[in-house]
Amino acid sequence: MRDVEYDPREESAYECFDCGTIVVAESCPSACPDCGGAMRNRLTTFE
Ligand SMILES: [Zn+2]
Repeated sequence: MRDVEYDPREESAYECFDCGTIVVAESCPSACPDCGGAMRNRLTTFE
């Protein structure tokens, strides 16, 4: 059975480089839903 398993513990916040939009998702979005810019994990330090 595959119900809508929603586990907030597995989600992270990602921030758009360009406009600063915050997206909470399980995996890093490929692009900002707002402007299409690159996303980065807010919990990760800069590399
Ligand atoms: Zn953006």
